[in-house]
Amino acid sequence: MTTVFDYTQEQAERFRQELHELLRIPSVSTDPDYAPEVRRAADWLAAHMRNIGLDAEVIATEGHPLVYAEWLNAGEDVPTVLVYGHYDVQPAQKEDGWDSEPFEPVEHDGQIWARGATDDKGQFFTHVKAVEALLKTEGKLPVNVKFLIEGEEESGGAAVSAFVKSHPEKLTADACVISDGGMSRDDQPIITSSVRGISQMELRVSGPKQDIHSGMYGGTVHNPLLALAQIIAQLHNPDGSIAVPGFYDDMLPLSEYERVEIAKNPMTEAEWRAETGAPQPWGEPDYSLQERIGARPTLEITGMAGGYYQAGYKTIVPQNAYAKIICRLVANQQPHDIYEKIRDYVGQITPPTVKSEVIDAAGALAAQMDITGPAMQAAVRAYEKGWGYTPIFQREGGTLPIVADLQSTLNMPVVLMGFGLNSDNLHGPNEHYRIDLFHRGIDTAINFLRECTTL
Ligand SMILES: [Zn+2]
Repeated sequence: MTTVFDYTQEQAERFRQELHELLRIPSVSTDPDYAPEVRRAADWLAAHMRNIGLDAEVIATEGHPLVYAEWLNAGEDVPTVLVYGHYDVQPAQKEDGWDSEPFEPVEHDGQIWARGATDDKGQFFTHVKAVEALLKTEGKLPVNVKFLIEGEEESGGAAVSAFVKSHPEKLTADACVISDGGMSRDDQPIITSSVRGISQMELRVSGPKQDIHSGMYGGTVHNPLLALAQIIAQLHNPDGSIAVPGFYDDMLPLSEYERVEIAKNPMTEAEWRAETGAPQPWGEPDYSLQERIGARPTLEITGMAGGYYQAGYKTIVPQNAYAKIICRLVANQQPHDIYEKIRDYVGQITPPTVKSEVIDAAGALAAQMDITGPAMQAAVRAYEKGWGYTPIFQREGGTLPIVADLQSTLNMPVVLMGFGLNSDNLHGPNEHYRIDLFHRGIDTAINFLRECTTL
């Protein structure tokens, strides 16, 4: 009898040829010229999923289509797993520095080279092939499975966010799994236990009614650029913590258990130096570098502007000064509330000699998963059996709004189990995916579905 793992071995070559077919479709979501290709990728995927025995449909949205598929024959008393992924890709052209055509996949040096190989076509496809292998060898799946594969993750993801909110019953599941990430070493898989949110705003400081002569009025008018610098300098305390009153109020405490988990994969100062190129670390001394990146919120000045900065010098007191501020938030902090706290504090510390204004821009919620929960622990066992190594939990410094959408709207744990490497050149030229990791991902995905029977 052919076991499921015999099958994945026997069919390995064909699995990759099918992935190549999908990789050949340049589903670049950000460029409207490629919209027909995005649509073609969605159609290809839905047809492929039907072929392996799923009910699949392409769902039109205001943006690019979603692909939804399901197999719900495991029974009502058996858990349901939702697989999320994205079939769209970042733009790529050979001239960007590729050694081969980005949409003509090639295999050499143990890698598949193509745009989307690891982000995310190759990674979500592991779950599709896991389902196929189980259906073909066992005639059924251990749990009910739903797929939601979107087509605009690389260009905002507005459609999927709206769909999640408008169709919660269609997506109901006991856990969601996402394979769209990497690890730094293949023998140290990582389950992401949180993603940060974001709050963005612009700070404007104005003084005189227009740019004025610095010889005639300088020394009597508070220079808006100086005032902006003085305001910004008060947003942090000397130890690097954020001085805005109430900024940390809603945060969940960082548990000892989690600090131990985070410490298992520390970022050393040497690594930090090599990656950043900055002379010395900065920031809250009570938290490790890794904790500052994933478990603490930040307030960054991401741009400043004002006055004259062309060739030579202009003798003015400028009318205006601007700064853009982006906060990375942790779970439970609300983007708009953080904006209001910053706005109110800036209002208090703005001297009467200038005027200030803080303008809110789009934000995104953070999400934090319970690492002791059954879905996360099922993922740990799946890695041990399918990947061959025990994963560690790590907090992610970046923002993935879909995670908060799924977790808060659908109230389900989201398991972020990446099957790629951080060195896969995602978003850059020569994106690649290690062939053995693609196959290990399939085996891990099979084990994950089997471990989910106890959710
Ligand atoms: Zn991705």
